[in-house]
Amino acid sequence: MGTNQGGSNVADRVAIIGAGPCGLGLLRAFQQAEAAGASVPEVVCFEKQDDWGGLWNYTWRTGTDENGEPVHGSMYRYLWSNGPKECLEFADYSFDEHFGQPIPSFPPREVLYDYIIGRATAAGVRDKIRFSTPVRNVVWDESAGQFSVTVRNIDDDRTETEMFDWVVVANGHFSVPHVPTFDGIESFTGRVMHGHDFRDALEFKDKHVVIVGGSYSAEDISLQCHKYGAASVTISYRSGAMGFSWPAGMKEVPLITTISGSTVSFSDGSSVDADAIVMCTGYLHSFPFVDDSLRLKTGNRLYPPGLYKGVVWEANPKLMYLGMQDQYYTFSMFDLQAWFARDVVMGTAPLPDAAAMATEIGEWVAREEALADPYQEIDFQADYCRDLAAVVDYPPFDIDATVKMFVDWEHDKEHDILSYRNSSFASAVTGTPSPSHHTPWLAAMDDSMATYMATEVNLNERAATPNA
Ligand code: FAD
Ligand code: NAP
Ligand code: MG
Repeated sequence: MGTNQGGSNVADRVAIIGAGPCGLGLLRAFQQAEAAGASVPEVVCFEKQDDWGGLWNYTWRTGTDENGEPVHGSMYRYLWSNGPKECLEFADYSFDEHFGQPIPSFPPREVLYDYIIGRATAAGVRDKIRFSTPVRNVVWDESAGQFSVTVRNIDDDRTETEMFDWVVVANGHFSVPHVPTFDGIESFTGRVMHGHDFRDALEFKDKHVVIVGGSYSAEDISLQCHKYGAASVTISYRSGAMGFSWPAGMKEVPLITTISGSTVSFSDGSSVDADAIVMCTGYLHSFPFVDDSLRLKTGNRLYPPGLYKGVVWEANPKLMYLGMQDQYYTFSMFDLQAWFARDVVMGTAPLPDAAAMATEIGEWVAREEALADPYQEIDFQADYCRDLAAVVDYPPFDIDATVKMFVDWEHDKEHDILSYRNSSFASAVTGTPSPSHHTPWLAAMDDSMATYMATEVNLNERAATPNA
């Protein structure tokens, strides 16, 4: 990239909605260009919470927050990365650089939060963010050739509108729960909730829990309940079982047919007496603040239609969306998208005409629709990353190596769902092999960063000094 060849875009104003990993990636991308000598436009990031980090910024709250806004957070206590950290590593800010020592491959949430925030802090982008400022409305003003962006400034209790040349939507899509219903559910005597509101598996110690869903949340929340002492966990799927070899006390059954009192019945004729039903039934892509004509409408898929290079809103390329894909790759893919979005704004990644964009989107969507299994999905998303990597100056990382790690990870999970997090991989950025963790995941009840970073020697010392 380097310099802004177009020049004319420097006076532009850019609004970013959300300071999670995607929004922070874009702030970093602009800062990196500026540090390399380019003139960059004014960037304002609006964040509805009072701090950064998106989903990784854990909150105990559920429902509405202290300001009456819907709680964004869907993460829970004791959450550990469900993929190898080597598959999400920032290529411009390695784990080695942040932690100063190699760390194991499956860190708990607090460690990844620290890493995300570490890069944003090093880039010095915090002053670009207006916190406690939910975006309420984004409308294209045809006569001005700009977006009118309306926000609520919570601290001042004011509604304000400003004009921007570009809007980048980065509000995440794992926050607004999708909640189906089942016959008789209103008669259920226990608790019914969605995974979005799940915070602490200890709540379900000694309880009989039914989990609905067949994807990552169903898998992980089931395992959490098992790990922290649930009496039984019954996972009810719609289209297909996950099919892992579940330990004693866990099983998979097909979909719920009826619920009566405490009895939950399934389509194979079986039933259980349950204390709680946790719906791990996915999330809605939700953009209530975006005008109808600009709003992405999609399910959770690897190539949402309507986005050129998975980023640029086809019908009005001054609007962009980051991170709206279903995700094998996360932070590194978000960065590639962010670097591309930056270059579109700066005029250094010129867009083809509308017909060419439509053709390319159509090719990706057709290919996505033919994918048959997770291995093909991983290859597909890796190719998508390669496609972006070819047009931006994001530092290179070994994408082939990440594909191989994802394949090993899938095999590890098929082999033993309770121990896949004990595996170690090598960095695709620095080549550093990761050490084994001092405690197997199933026995690691304390997910704090302090315990995670401790060496075995420290742990022994701590155990020998009860009040330390
Ligand atoms: P988010 O992290 O959701 O951040 C969006 C931000 O936008 C938030 O700060 C929010 O407050 C803000 N916002 C929303 N609406 C508005 C508005 N109207 N105005 C202003 N600001 C707004 N990925 C992994 O790589 N590894 C994992 O182990 C992993 N675990 C996960 C566990 C759970 C339970 C979930 C739900 C997701 C997990 N993910 C994981 C995937 C996760 O989607 C990404 O890691 C990442 O957080 C996505 O970043 P984002 O910036 O797109 O969205
Ligand atoms: P998801 O991957 O979109 O899966 C949604 C699931 O809900 C699918 O299995 C779907 O079943 C099911 N479903 C939808 N409607 C249903 C209905 N009416 N009845 C029964 N089942 C229904 O969502 P997710 O599992 O919540 O995962 C979201 C993200 O969070 C992922 O990126 C994941 O990696 C992340 N996550 C990570 C961790 C971690 O350990 N770090 C933990 C949890 C989540 P069908 O297959 O039939 O469509
Ligand atoms: Mg899937």
